[in-house]
Amino acid sequence: MTFNDDARIDTGKVTRRRGGKAAAIGGGGLIGVLVLVVASQLFGVDLTPLASTLTGGATAQEETVELEDCTTGASANADDECRMVAATDSLDTFWQDQFSSGYRKPEVILYSTATESACGSASAAVGPFYCPADESIYLDTAFFTTLRTDFGATAGPLSQMYVLAHEWGHHISNLTGQLSQVGRETGASSGSVRLELQADCYAGAWVRDASNVTDDRGTAFMKPVTEEEIADAMNAASVIGDDYIQRRSGRDVNPDSFSHGSSEQRRRWFQTGYRSGATACDTFSIPAGEL
Ligand SMILES: [Zn+2]
Repeated sequence: MTFNDDARIDTGKVTRRRGGKAAAIGGGGLIGVLVLVVASQLFGVDLTPLASTLTGGATAQEETVELEDCTTGASANADDECRMVAATDSLDTFWQDQFSSGYRKPEVILYSTATESACGSASAAVGPFYCPADESIYLDTAFFTTLRTDFGATAGPLSQMYVLAHEWGHHISNLTGQLSQVGRETGASSGSVRLELQADCYAGAWVRDASNVTDDRGTAFMKPVTEEEIADAMNAASVIGDDYIQRRSGRDVNPDSFSHGSSEQRRRWFQTGYRSGATACDTFSIPAGEL
């Protein structure tokens, strides 16, 4: 999904931190169970190693910089970080319109290597995540390279934006109150899986309308999505499915340990949002066998 070159992008909706260093792993800080579940949303990682990563020490010497080169759609087509900035502007505008009241924008924090969040230290080992405690999305665009090298994904422009839109979906579930009702349980029809599939569905809902979302001068941010781009996003959804990850790491597929949903489910719920919009994303009301 490409941006119109002359779309005007508000760069003020994203924070770019630089200079973060990987922190020493250690400490035993108590981290909310919910946060752990949410923080692991893209990787099918076990929660235990994630906990040690997240409780690492503080990173120092970090500064916030302006992404002043990301003001046009053309820059978003050429650069991964600018693409995240532009997608943030589009997502924010889209979701604002979906709520009659009670909408708040999440913070979007781009970082390199490591940074601090209210949910603990973020690093490449964790992958992109949404932290409900500070209502922020943390993303290192180096993750897109990881998607290619470690997950064998295409990781093209739309799948990169799917990752951000998925995290944004967690924020929406937080605003609606559904996120706070989910605990640490795993399993094919668990709350964790329902929450993840809901985020995939919300991502699809944004893609459905993305070419109709306009900047402050009325120029559409994006061109209509192509079949090829949808295939790229579906590919990303597949490679972060629990069954795919378990198989890829040499384990037997065990639905009882699912926390994110199977590849097939993730693709399907993205498509549900894409075909039917955000109102079709109530994964919590679906009977277990039909999820
Ligand atoms: Zn997730």
